[in-house]
Amino acid sequence: MLSYWEKSSLIEYDLVVVGGGLVGSFAALTYRKHHPEARIALLERGVLPNGASTKNAGFACFGSISELQEDLNDCNLDELVALTEKRFKGIEYLRASLTDTSIGYEAVKGYELVFKTVDSDQLAFFNDALSSVFGKNPFSDLTPSLEAYPFGSKVKGLIEHAFEGTVHTGMLMKALHQKLQEEGISYFTGSELVEFEETASAVSLWVASSKQRLQFKSHQLVFCTNAFTQYFFPELDITPGRGLVLVTHPVKNLKLSGSFHYHSGYNYFRCIDNRILLGGARHLDKSSETTTTFGVNEKIQNQLIEDLHTIIAPEYKLEVDYSWSGIMAFGKNKQPIIRKMSDRIAVAARLGGMGVALGSLVGKEVAELL
Ligand SMILES: Cc1cc2nc3c(=O)[nH]c(=O)nc-3n(C[C@H](O)[C@H](O)[C@H](O)COP(=O)(O)OP(=O)(O)OC[C@H]3O[C@@H](n4cnc5c(N)ncnc54)[C@H](O)[C@@H]3O)c2cc1C
Repeated sequence: MLSYWEKSSLIEYDLVVVGGGLVGSFAALTYRKHHPEARIALLERGVLPNGASTKNAGFACFGSISELQEDLNDCNLDELVALTEKRFKGIEYLRASLTDTSIGYEAVKGYELVFKTVDSDQLAFFNDALSSVFGKNPFSDLTPSLEAYPFGSKVKGLIEHAFEGTVHTGMLMKALHQKLQEEGISYFTGSELVEFEETASAVSLWVASSKQRLQFKSHQLVFCTNAFTQYFFPELDITPGRGLVLVTHPVKNLKLSGSFHYHSGYNYFRCIDNRILLGGARHLDKSSETTTTFGVNEKIQNQLIEDLHTIIAPEYKLEVDYSWSGIMAFGKNKQPIIRKMSDRIAVAARLGGMGVALGSLVGKEVAELL
């Protein structure tokens, strides 16, 4: 039985956001901006957010040339340019909202490893298409400087993206939590939305932890549950995709500044605290990785370890310390879904592999839609 205090102060809200990742946090913060007096609650089923936002690699990236080329199979050039612009503006909004220091942002630039020769026509094509987004050409051929990098002999070319950077994912999520607290947003962790029902006057929500099952009420409800949205809305085009990340033990004098990609953006690596953080390669076993279950795919892990020793830094004695996985959401194209499902309910999901870039604006957009 609820206490008088619980009934009168703790279970009724103007907005409930489900999902405590990047998108849910920005949705709650934006709603606060527009509604200074609103009662806002954010429900997260994990003790820590348990999807992608605390598991990612922290690349503030916008698409390497081979990835953009592949994207053109699923959208036209105008749509691709618009999506790239949204990613770029998303990073700018993220940085402006939380400050570079608090999210550990570093403008280290991005680099794509090329295994044949750099296609200068293709490079010129994407520079031409994207210079309006970045204010100048983002890509340049850096192959003449390849010797300065520790890569293996398979790597024949290098393309620089002048505007990419990295964030420290842990610092970023910590900064977001702090901001939610400062803005008086009630953040419930270990609290899973298990059921909801919309009536003419409100939405009833059943929220469960290991010890309790409570009924909340809210005027509005927004799902920022990315890959897990399919549980509530199976009609939406959302397919889960598990991603693997490995981190090596620290190595002395390891100097590698940048965010690095190869194989159409499926593979990536960076240096952090004298370690290499590498991941991806989902394309090697897509059917097994189409899952919302966390876990390590041995086949992918083994290939990543081989890449570490043959492509990334053969001269260093790198050993993997540990690995983890996170769950992303994909669809027929890379556009996120930001949609009202009814008068009181909205969804913001399907952030793909570049939600660090898109997340802030997607959260903002869905809150403004309400
Ligand atoms: C391994 C990996 C590496 C990545 N690397 C990068 C990168 O370098 N750069 C980049 O831009 N993007 C990257 N991404 C993608 C990026 O992290 C995501 O697109 C982004 O974090 C999605 O944010 P979100 O808030 O939509 O979803 P999530 O972070 O998944 O948040 C959804 C939350 O909803 C919660 N939830 C689900 N169901 C319920 C429920 N019923 N009740 C309560 N809570 C619920 C989940 O626990 C979860 O915390 C990566 C992703 C992964 C997995």
